[in-house]
Amino acid sequence: MKLILLGAPGAGKGTQAEVICDHLHIPSVSTGNLLREAVKKQTEYGVKAKSFMDSGKLVPDEIVLALLKERIAQDDCKNGFILDGFPRTVAQAQTLEEMGVAVDAVIDIEVPDEAITQRMSGRRVCEACGASYHIVSKPTKVEGVCDRCGGKLVIRKDDQPETVKDRLNVYHNQTEPLIEYYQKSGKLKVVDGQGDVGEVAARTLAALEA
Ligand code: ADP
Ligand code: ZN
Repeated sequence: MKLILLGAPGAGKGTQAEVICDHLHIPSVSTGNLLREAVKKQTEYGVKAKSFMDSGKLVPDEIVLALLKERIAQDDCKNGFILDGFPRTVAQAQTLEEMGVAVDAVIDIEVPDEAITQRMSGRRVCEACGASYHIVSKPTKVEGVCDRCGGKLVIRKDDQPETVKDRLNVYHNQTEPLIEYYQKSGKLKVVDGQGDVGEVAARTLAALEA
């Protein structure tokens, strides 16, 4: 099973990816996480990607595609995977097809901009392992400390309010056209992303079975 998760930044793609991942036992592949790893390791790609990410812009395709191709070629992806944060443009969707990746379904998690702006302000990530949390909807057991590894939680640079605005603009201009694109292919399933994580998860799994 190969799935795509669509949605604005902060719509909860990552969380829903984990839910599906537990349910279907296929890994979730987040280009955002792959990029952040590369930045942290200061690889050549990471160094190039950093300024784009910090300002909320899309990273050039050659970098994103190189990281993606390497990841989905790994053994654990051979029975399928969930793409979280890719494709983000129609051009990337076309490239995916050219790569021979046949997608079974596309889940679009819909959340209004105002709700997103509110959510993003509470987002925290572990600077050590990259796990993500939210001060209201997904708090850690100990404030500021990662449940998984004990690392310190920080606010991503791209979660600063001004950058969030820019990221939403990028989403509306460049990513939203994908909704129509996948609607035409009959693969699109729309999920209301509002409400608590459990409710949204139930809708996501129901959409997958429909
Ligand atoms: P979110 O979904 O919360 O916006 P991600 O973690 O998916 O955040 O992505 C963070 C940043 O990484 C994006 O703002 C962008 O700069 C870069 N990025 C991630 N995926 C892609 C992609 N498919 N194409 C181009 N840039 C990407
Ligand atoms: Zn951690």
